[in-house]
Amino acid sequence: MEKFVINNVGVKVGLEIHQQLATNKKLFCNCTPIESDEYSIRFQRKLRVSKSELGEFDPAALFESTKSKTIMYYANHESSCLVEQDEEPPHELDTDARKIALIISSALKSNIFSEIYPMRKTVIDGSNTTGFQRTMLISQGGFYNAGKTKIGIQSICLEEDAAKILGEEGSIRKFGLERLGVPLVEIATDPFEVELTEIRKIALSLGRILRSTKKVKRGLGSIRQDVNVSIKDGNGVVIEVKGVQQLDQLEKVVEYEAKRQHGLLQISKKIQEKNWEFTDEDKKDITELFSKCKSKIIQNAIKKNQRIIAVSFKKMAGIFGFLPYEGIRLGKEVAELVRFFGIGGVFHSDELPNYGVEESDLEELKKFVKIKENDAFLILASPEEKIHTIVNQIILRIEHIRDHGIPIDTRLATQTGETKFLRPRPGSARMYPETDIPPIIITKEELSEAEKNIPKSWDESIKEIETKYKINPQLAEQIFDSRYIGLFENIIKKINTNPTFVASILCSSITNLERSGLDSNLLKNEEISKLFQLLEKGEISKESIEIILENIMSGKSKTVKEAIENTSIESISEIDLEKIIEGIVEKNESIIKNQKERAIGPLMGIVMKELRGKASGEMINNLLLKNIKKKLESI
Ligand SMILES: [Zn+2]
Repeated sequence: MEKFVINNVGVKVGLEIHQQLATNKKLFCNCTPIESDEYSIRFQRKLRVSKSELGEFDPAALFESTKSKTIMYYANHESSCLVEQDEEPPHELDTDARKIALIISSALKSNIFSEIYPMRKTVIDGSNTTGFQRTMLISQGGFYNAGKTKIGIQSICLEEDAAKILGEEGSIRKFGLERLGVPLVEIATDPFEVELTEIRKIALSLGRILRSTKKVKRGLGSIRQDVNVSIKDGNGVVIEVKGVQQLDQLEKVVEYEAKRQHGLLQISKKIQEKNWEFTDEDKKDITELFSKCKSKIIQNAIKKNQRIIAVSFKKMAGIFGFLPYEGIRLGKEVAELVRFFGIGGVFHSDELPNYGVEESDLEELKKFVKIKENDAFLILASPEEKIHTIVNQIILRIEHIRDHGIPIDTRLATQTGETKFLRPRPGSARMYPETDIPPIIITKEELSEAEKNIPKSWDESIKEIETKYKINPQLAEQIFDSRYIGLFENIIKKINTNPTFVASILCSSITNLERSGLDSNLLKNEEISKLFQLLEKGEISKESIEIILENIMSGKSKTVKEAIENTSIESISEIDLEKIIEGIVEKNESIIKNQKERAIGPLMGIVMKELRGKASGEMINNLLLKNIKKKLESI
């Protein structure tokens, strides 16, 4: 096994960023895009997949894998209407979304079309009630600078977001409609060839240009990244990897995918050397033969009346376990494909005997299927109606690897920075015109309006925050890159309070609580605002803010009001406060005797602990000092 060196394979990367826009309504209706998990509407659809939507992929195969799916949609009246339910045609394109898309295109110096044609893009997973997503190509070309690297823009589209997946139970898949139809821009860059470590910066710079418009959504799920990866010897195959959640993951995903592709080319060569050809005699039903096999997986399959099939691969011994690089195996590719069809597992010759399949089972198998010493084989179990389709797909895939190298899939990024088979790449028949919406004409006035509204660069925006709010550069950067920048500016506008204090609560306090395992998604913006309003009115102290945040973020309370009640931190009057302090001074006379005025240190701790945020540190300090002095005079 060789060590993989990414610089030797000529990897090219293209980014595809999906950014939700911050508008008050959805792209083609008047609903407000608010997140909620309270659903008063529920309806169901069967998944429809037509032949033209499947591209080159064997329609029977995909049909088998999805035909039994029922889709349940959950919705509420605030965030969805008949448009989302596909009971009413789309309304006119939202003007805000239109403006923002034009500003983003202008900022990236992309050429905006004078006529825009809404299109339908087929969606086959049920994430859209209509079975398609509406999308509009707004502009082509353009560039931006990420440090010294100039990155080309391929295209910018304005589109509808999909419904949010809520879960899957057996043959039922559930979606929430609150996110369906939320406007988003999709920006695709040209492929670029850079050092792995630069990719993060390139993605970050693009994200910062978008955020500089101040018209894009922030926070979890508001920006999604897909990445296209190809290598020099890959015969032009570009693999699309979906769902890279964090920028830190990007580098790993690109490295893994390049390694996988280069590994597949080596596997391809190896298969060619073996002169392998598949014939129908290589496939045998071994359900009877394996009826006494002790493997749990085999026995479960037999109980469910499934069939067990063995496939032999002549002269291919060692091929499934062959490791061109760490973690890259043909066996893994086959297992991923089989999982796509919803069946549990597949055994290959290079991992057996194992999993309860014993040497004696293998001896009988080899006799029955005529497997020789230098042959490889697969064993798989599945319901009878699917099994031949699955075996065909496995054979087709291995033949494709033999003849062409890298199979053309759409893949999904995993948490650990690998990629896995998501689905076959759909063909070009996937797009067709949206007949419910007429073409959209972009006027000269609109174009010059967009030009005028091109945002300041990220660097300028940071400088502006620094000077406007008199906060240090590091905090300015933190607050601008965080999801709270809009909230921050709102709070400062409405409430007379110290910007540095607000920014540090929003950046460091909330982040620290998050790091200790609490959930900032439980914290609504209105509640954070309320917190600072109460502080301004003197109804709570600075010290109580973190206690309230902690209470809400741990799920104990939903609102600030509730949290104040639950933690019993209501500000107490100065008279009550003084009484408590007098009591504590009285009890600790000896400390005061010994340490004189320096007793304020230890006593401050005692008082703060007792009051837990009910009064400000400053007020406590003043009253405590006054009372210590009084005590010292009387001793
Ligand atoms: Zn609606």
